[in-house]
Amino acid sequence: MNNCIFCKIVNKEIPSNYIYEDDDMIIIKDINPIAKKHFLAIPKLHFSDVVSMSEDNAKTIGKMLKKIGAIADSLLELEKGFRIVMNKGEHGCQSIFHLHLHILGGEQLSPHFN
Ligand code: AMP
Ligand code: ZN
Repeated sequence: MNNCIFCKIVNKEIPSNYIYEDDDMIIIKDINPIAKKHFLAIPKLHFSDVVSMSEDNAKTIGKMLKKIGAIADSLLELEKGFRIVMNKGEHGCQSIFHLHLHILGGEQLSPHFN
């Protein structure tokens, strides 16, 4: 909301490296990449995490996943595969409390998740 950095990026109050935008979401490059390719898919509506999301929010996430799948090979250049990660809470190392999906790829990822 007012003080949320991802709301500010969605509203273009803070510049970012925008890759894609539609009615539901934006995709930007992560400022601190942990893989050769590291994107963030951010819903335009503010909600904190998977625990607090509404049915409508969940539908939006479903649409986002479908769209990410559709543009993975072309726009995102992830034809050899990728990983989608959603962090939640302290143990999940969530640091920004506006739900987002990490899209990781561009190189061979480790089979271990932590
Ligand atoms: P999480 O730890 O799951 O909440 O992920 C937050 C992510 O947002 C981290 O990977 C950060 O590197 C990334 N991040 C923080 N600020 C920005 C920004 N201004 N532009 C792009 N990515 C950002
Ligand atoms: Zn927000």
